[in-house]
Amino acid sequence: MVRMRVALFGGTFDPIHRGHLALASAAASAFALDRVLFAPVGRQPLKAESPAATFADRLEMTRLAVASAADPSFAVSSVDAPRPDGAPNYTVDTLAALAREAPAATLFVLTGADSFLTLRNWRSPAQLLALAEWIVVSRPEFPLSEPQLAPLALTPAQRTRIHLLTTVHEDVSATELRRRLRAGDPCPGLLPLAVAAYIQAHHLYR
Ligand code: ATP
Repeated sequence: MVRMRVALFGGTFDPIHRGHLALASAAASAFALDRVLFAPVGRQPLKAESPAATFADRLEMTRLAVASAADPSFAVSSVDAPRPDGAPNYTVDTLAALAREAPAATLFVLTGADSFLTLRNWRSPAQLLALAEWIVVSRPEFPLSEPQLAPLALTPAQRTRIHLLTTVHEDVSATELRRRLRAGDPCPGLLPLAVAAYIQAHHLYR
């Protein structure tokens, strides 16, 4: 039986931008992913500040971006929607839920280098590496090679579950985009057109 290769791509996506789409496309083609689940996160445990846009707006922008990418492997998921009790969304819980839903799938997680290199601060790192294989993607200003992995103190078995993809060079961040949008710059080329239009129509990031 051929196992489905399903990747979780979680993020604040506040807003989703060209870097996110480039990361997902590169990972999908390099690792023959059948499905990439773009999952906006309700509350990111390691980010002190709340997102600027609501979950509903971030989910809708993610839908628009995924539709504009026209990649048949891309899908949107609300698996990481805000918890009714306001608790943070822990990736280990999300992965455990996905593993229960799709027991026959091989699970992956997609992450940028900056985010993965903080793995020691995440809840249950060993379980995170047991539940999924990790595809870690390069990001400008975040070097990504063996020396950067050293502080994670991975066992040899854990190391085999981490794949480095160093071909993405997208100098764009949501923080910088929010700053520019607030200053009235529509950020041409950095956001999918439909997302830029949604931001304008809903007066986001003013
Ligand atoms: P912020 O600047 O507000 O922290 P962000 O641009 O990093 O936001 P997130 O939604 O926090 O966006 O990122 C989701 C995931 O995408 C993370 O794993 C992050 O490392 C990765 N990512 C975001 N931007 C890039 C980029 N330009 N290149 C590679 N990976 C990226």
